[in-house]
Amino acid sequence: GADSSRILQTRGLRKEFGGLTATDDVDFALEAGELRCLIGPNGAGKSTFLNLLTGQLEPTDGEIYYDGADITGLASHERVDRGISMKFQVPSVYEGLTVAQNLRIPLQQVVGPDAFDARTHEILERFGLLDQWETVAGALSHGQQQRLEIGMAMATEPKLMLLDEPVAGLSVEETADIAELLREIAGDDGVALIVIEHDIDFVETIADRVTVLDGGSIFREGSIEEIKADPEVKRIYLGG
Ligand code: ADP
Ligand code: MG
Repeated sequence: GADSSRILQTRGLRKEFGGLTATDDVDFALEAGELRCLIGPNGAGKSTFLNLLTGQLEPTDGEIYYDGADITGLASHERVDRGISMKFQVPSVYEGLTVAQNLRIPLQQVVGPDAFDARTHEILERFGLLDQWETVAGALSHGQQQRLEIGMAMATEPKLMLLDEPVAGLSVEETADIAELLREIAGDDGVALIVIEHDIDFVETIADRVTVLDGGSIFREGSIEEIKADPEVKRIYLGG
């Protein structure tokens, strides 16, 4: 069974692609409302790990416990219903739809039509997109698209949000906006977050704790200060 103080726990989670082990017996635990950053070199297995949590990928072995239940066999949409939402590495807004129409897609899962406009207003205001209500998403700046996607992920009222490189390619200012939003989502809304990120300065501004993956395994876990000071962590980054 799962430890009930945790929102998420994995046991011996494993994913093999042919002969390659992308996730290697990972035992991971996250407290409710915690903001955890997941770092590690390219190919360390960060995206694979998140895709196992959402149900986008099926594990070769191991279990995933969420909110007190074994969800290993659940389909992605069932995990969304239970409060797990994901912002993928590749942008996944519908470029031909307006901002409001994009938001309606996840909102339909949680509120009736009567509440669409009020909830849309609330989310767009919070994510700084009120003036873009009728703008097609393809015409938004990269930073606005990222904020829309995080807004879409929040629309389903999750308990756990997974974000794969939410500030990749963003300006310093846009990155600071996203950092503030993520801190609020964890601190004010009590949503647990796992954020994959390369930029160690960004990690430092947001994370409670950091997990370092390497070769599919957990290499280190600790506070940002501990991780930054760890010579072995520096070595796996510099050594490729
Ligand atoms: P990261 O996100 O840390 O860069 P990934 O999880 O994307 O790493 O990849 C981990 C390893 O698994 C890499 O060696 C990658 O090539 C491999 N991999 C990822 N997805 C697939 C897939 N669908 N099929 C085969 N190999 C994959
Ligand atoms: Mg990745």
